[in-house]
Amino acid sequence: MADVAGPGPWTAGEWGLDTLAIHAGQDPDPAYRAVAVPVYQTSTYAQPEVGQHVGPYDYARSANPTRTALEQCLAALEGGSRAVAFSSGLAAEDALLRALLKPGDHLVIPDDAYGGTYRLIDKVLAPWGVAYSPVAVSDVEAVRAALRTETKVVWVETPTNPLLGIADIRALADVAHEAGALLVVDSTFASPALQNPLALGADVVVHSTTKYLGGHSDVVGGALVVADPELGERLVFHQNSMGAVPGPWDCWLTLRGIKTLGIRMERHCANARRVVEVLQRSDSVREVRWPGLPSHPGHEVATRQMRDFGGMVSVRMAGGVDAALALCRGTHVFTLAESLGGVESLIELPARMTHASVSGSALEVPADLVRLSVGIESADDLVSDLERALASL
Ligand code: PLP
Repeated sequence: MADVAGPGPWTAGEWGLDTLAIHAGQDPDPAYRAVAVPVYQTSTYAQPEVGQHVGPYDYARSANPTRTALEQCLAALEGGSRAVAFSSGLAAEDALLRALLKPGDHLVIPDDAYGGTYRLIDKVLAPWGVAYSPVAVSDVEAVRAALRTETKVVWVETPTNPLLGIADIRALADVAHEAGALLVVDSTFASPALQNPLALGADVVVHSTTKYLGGHSDVVGGALVVADPELGERLVFHQNSMGAVPGPWDCWLTLRGIKTLGIRMERHCANARRVVEVLQRSDSVREVRWPGLPSHPGHEVATRQMRDFGGMVSVRMAGGVDAALALCRGTHVFTLAESLGGVESLIELPARMTHASVSGSALEVPADLVRLSVGIESADDLVSDLERALASL
């Protein structure tokens, strides 16, 4: 394990994703050659003399070797110079936005952003003096029109949660940069297995590592990955100053999950295809949203910038909210729960669950929208579970 977070010798471009997921940041431990990264469950490090410590390890809020391993792995997976890990996706977003913005600045956000991101911006950053404009980020010209001289950040999610909209990362990077702003991409739904925003010109990639990266619904975490080392240093300063760091066990669980990211994502995508077929066949379903469908308005952009279309599928029900509630109640393998990206399939009603915080705002989601996080169980079981639930509506 090297003593500073950076991609080390395991760099993107030289190695495949699955190799990086298993090895980047995870060389045998120098102390006893442990093959699995040790959990450094310590808050501090003994110093033989005042000011003498190994690498950056003087106090565990500032640095922890298990966290370094995770950060090096994430940097390699996204092809960045630096990754910075946090205790949740929202902690990562908070540190990033406070590092990039000051009162008087403006940012553009998706008009269908994740509810928690909207709440952070609307309820925490706006009262601090930051202005924001919700815009359909799938429309490049609408983003251009929303830019002001004070715009410092264009924030996109792609695919978006829960409407599965697609933003053109390369085009938006150009638009943001022409205006002197940075492009931030929340790539949680894609994970580094399906999309690498930095390679398309984005400045910062945001992940809720709670989702596909951790992959087992057993840990909450977040991360920022950047191309520019100077920006990376600023984010590390904020990570240490604000202190929302992940504990070593959480870093270890996330790293352990990451090792199988590639094969999990293959199965998530394949199972989502099967699930989409079932949903499209059902008269109870009015609309299926999945970027892999040629009828999806962002399909062409998604085909260009993603390796596959992901495991998240949303539907609007012909029978309205009652049918949506009945579907959420009616599945057995799909568990009714918030969150996404784990090995188990989940179902939820965003308007009353994950996106309740955008109710009454410009970002309100349709009341009859049901979101499915398609897991990696046997596809036939997912298909029959949904067929049974849909038939009983
Ligand atoms: N970004 C997206 C797209 C999300 O879906 C979420 C959580 O659902 C977050 C960010 C926030 O992450 P966390 O819940 O880890 O704070």
